[in-house]
Amino acid sequence: MTELSSIDTSRGCTDTPVLRERGQREVFCGLTGIVWLHRKMPDSFFLVVGSRTCAHLLQSAAGVMIFAEPRFGTAILEEKDLAGLADANAELDREVDRLLARRPDIRRLFLVGSCPSEVIKLDLARAAERIGQRHAPRVEVLNFSGSGIETTFTEGEDACLAAMVPGLPATKARELLVVGALPDVVEDQMLALLARLGIGPVRLLPARRADSAPTVGPQTVAALVQPFLGTTAAALAERGARVLTAPFPFGEEGTTAWLAAIAGEWGVDAAAFAAATDAPRARARKAVAAAATTLGGKRIFFLPDSQLELPLARFLTRECGMTAVEIGTPYLHAGLMAAELALLAPGPAIVEGQDVEAQLDRVRAAQPDLTVCGLGLANPLEAEGLATKWAIELVFTPVHFYDQAGDLAALFARPLRRRARLSFGPAGGQP
Ligand code: SF4
Repeated sequence: MTELSSIDTSRGCTDTPVLRERGQREVFCGLTGIVWLHRKMPDSFFLVVGSRTCAHLLQSAAGVMIFAEPRFGTAILEEKDLAGLADANAELDREVDRLLARRPDIRRLFLVGSCPSEVIKLDLARAAERIGQRHAPRVEVLNFSGSGIETTFTEGEDACLAAMVPGLPATKARELLVVGALPDVVEDQMLALLARLGIGPVRLLPARRADSAPTVGPQTVAALVQPFLGTTAAALAERGARVLTAPFPFGEEGTTAWLAAIAGEWGVDAAAFAAATDAPRARARKAVAAAATTLGGKRIFFLPDSQLELPLARFLTRECGMTAVEIGTPYLHAGLMAAELALLAPGPAIVEGQDVEAQLDRVRAAQPDLTVCGLGLANPLEAEGLATKWAIELVFTPVHFYDQAGDLAALFARPLRRRARLSFGPAGGQP
């Protein structure tokens, strides 16, 4: 029904062995997700139960909100809490009561676990239940963990969305549930595309407001827009929803394949699909082609960080002419990634997990044109003469769907152009 059928999957990476590495990791923790989630859900509040380090991470990553009431904060565990000398539960109850009395606009409160709260085994699930009973029905109280112990930064969103699923109202209606936090402007573009295809009703998780939470049930078809939502997908399946397996909507091809998977479910015919997508597809191809002049023929190495690595490698190799040397990802969910792996050409090593020293040795040996990595690794690699792209930028920047395809390619082209300018020098002319 679409060009999806003409996408060559016969040489995909589905049989490529995955190297699993366990060692020292260099990633942000799941608290980082609060930085984009608090913008998405303005009537929610994220209360991190953590240390001063957690508070500093959030403040430096998100900045201080001067003009608005803050939508996140940290209940700091002091030494006497950590030593078990104070009743952390009683203090938490008091802080929450004070917060909710002062902020009648808060409709949903997330108690967010951290490394310190996990270490002292503070039971935030029970705390959320206890506090929630006191403040129902005005405020829904949920909990999830953003701890950095054995997690990576995008798992914060997964844990947050999964925490909402058990409480979603039930439905028997056939509905599309789009799962994953998108910037509002991108979400509106997506809704417009789905509307042009005649697909609906469409629900969103997360919804922008607590009182417009989506419904879920056995007729729900769930489509993920982010590849790091495995726990949320499992929670939705437990509620009876069917989670679609499709490439993720990055680039022209990924967006088309994602839409085609949904269109197939709703019985949209080829002519209607083409009428709705031909123009934005052409625009996306043109925008990507502009950046691909810089990217074509270049070699890229992904260190494991955001869990976006496989879809991005698929986009950069298939649409921008790059060659992937190694694709590292913190976790590889075989089911959710099946469609992506089928599209990836054989060649790159696929690595799950992190052993940072071994991976850096391979980066140095490979001397790729571009390395996608966490902030902590970027500066040392740049100092060694390697161009880098910060993985975290990819979750803070609108990169999904047709209208962002050119921007997504440009994000990768920019460090290459910058490095080329630096090596030419001011008198050498612009490349
Ligand atoms: S949750 Fe853990 S890793 Fe994250 S800022 Fe707090 S202490 Fe650090």
